[in-house]
Amino acid sequence: STLDRSSAASDVYKRQDVLAGMEIEVTGSGPDGQRKLSGPIGLMGAMESEVELIQSCLVDAHPIEGPCPLVGGRLDGTDVLLAQCGVGKVNAALAASALVQNGASCIIFTGVAGAAGPDLDIGDVVVGNRFVQHDADGTAFDDPIGVVPGEPRSWQPDERLHTVLMGCAARVFDARRRVVSGTIASGDQFIGDPAKVRWIHDTFDALAVEMEGAALAQAASHLHVPFAVVRVLSDRADGTAVIDFPAFLAQAARHDRDLARAVVAELSGGVPAV
Ligand code: SAH
Repeated sequence: STLDRSSAASDVYKRQDVLAGMEIEVTGSGPDGQRKLSGPIGLMGAMESEVELIQSCLVDAHPIEGPCPLVGGRLDGTDVLLAQCGVGKVNAALAASALVQNGASCIIFTGVAGAAGPDLDIGDVVVGNRFVQHDADGTAFDDPIGVVPGEPRSWQPDERLHTVLMGCAARVFDARRRVVSGTIASGDQFIGDPAKVRWIHDTFDALAVEMEGAALAQAASHLHVPFAVVRVLSDRADGTAVIDFPAFLAQAARHDRDLARAVVAELSGGVPAV
């Protein structure tokens, strides 16, 4: 299956359209295997820079009040709900909940992350095929490190949304950029230390480190909403982050916008307008 193929963290997709010609069926996916995508597409980013260009493309944009500010509207004719969740795990979970309460049929996160794979470079792209919370520590109860007591060891994205993101990323990004499928490690820490990022890589086999993805994954599993996450690597998570980070955001914002448009276009065929 797609997921088996994509779960190899070493699976590197170059620009050639590996997925071109693949039939992508957008209905009937989701954790329960029954759920239909039949509402607006939920789009999420953490920081203003990650959502503002997407927002500028919305037609009939209207704010929606709640625990996380949402903007509803149409992106290239398709109904979407856009959330700027803010930084960190709790904010990501709140935004996921707000999106679902307002009818989102799925949630796509676009944003930046630190590189955790030693072979990855700034500008490369990681589409999450597994999510862990590197800052969870229940070892006092003999839980393995990174496991929230009572929760699974890791979460997986919706298989079809992951496939769509891989295909869209391969089209949107420059041919020199690698688009890889792999583990994303999240925690309420901005990682800027070579020893720490190496530990996260070695412990969890993570390719990217950020602050929201695995919280969205946990929330989405409780909310029974399909989700997927794509991250452009903005820094090496090794302390040079502070220098690289701001310089990178403007460029990443354009990629976020292009990705969001590509994903929405791809999904809209099977997502009835509401
Ligand atoms: N002062 C910054 C804070 C950004 S926190 C601002 O608000 O502009 C970093 C954000 O980028 C988070 O949303 C996180 O998901 C992602 N990120 C990028 N590089 C990261 C890294 N090295 N470690 C953790 N998160 C990172």
